[in-house]
Amino acid sequence: MGGLNNSIIKRAMEKELISIEAVNIRDYTLDKHKKVDDYPFGGGAGMLMQAQPVYDCYKAVIAKISGKAESDAFTDKTRVLYMSPQGKTFHQAMAKELSEEENLIFLCGHYEGIDQRVLDKIGVEEVSVGDYVLTGGELPAMVMIDTIARLVPGVLNNDASSVDESFSEGMLEYPQYTRPEVWEGERVPEVLLSGHHANIEKWRKEMAYKNTKDKRPDLLKTIM
Ligand code: SAH
Repeated sequence: MGGLNNSIIKRAMEKELISIEAVNIRDYTLDKHKKVDDYPFGGGAGMLMQAQPVYDCYKAVIAKISGKAESDAFTDKTRVLYMSPQGKTFHQAMAKELSEEENLIFLCGHYEGIDQRVLDKIGVEEVSVGDYVLTGGELPAMVMIDTIARLVPGVLNNDASSVDESFSEGMLEYPQYTRPEVWEGERVPEVLLSGHHANIEKWRKEMAYKNTKDKRPDLLKTIM
């Protein structure tokens, strides 16, 4: 989980707004050589992760989350997100919804994926980071955890900064400027220096619309 040790997420963990724990499925294999994968039935390239270590790991994780014995922990429904190129593509509204959950489990596959039976048994929700194939689910999980964590109240210094930004209203954000007022001969748009809040608001709305129309016209179609 090294990728999540940056300033904002690290501070959120220190403030106990979120906690993240990485669990190694390999620790749950009953195979004496610590094997967790095998050839796919029916042939084909690559290896598949076996059901047993994934399921035993899942049981241990939900028992730990609920503080109950493994056999009783099943009554508590914790959503299990299986990182998969076959899933629904992750997006900001999904992140917002997931940020309201108390607990989440991110299941990361490797090799060619995971035996379908254990995915069905757990009742996973498949989520993808995009239409391309990675070697494992860790990077997608980190992308999702980072996105979800910054929506948890208190994680960003100013919670309003996640209200205005790209995708939150189905649009991209307006352009932003900071000091100095003139840089390399280029001035900051005059309206932003005016102190006139209604005009600034209006300008930002117009620019957000223009940005979206120019860069991602497909987004406008989905909200209109
Ligand atoms: N054979 C599978 C791909 C396996 S890739 C198929 O064709 O569907 C190995 C693992 O990487 C997957 O189990 C998944 O956990 C992860 N992974 C790969 N691409 C991903 C993506 N776009 N989004 C989320 N997870 C992905």
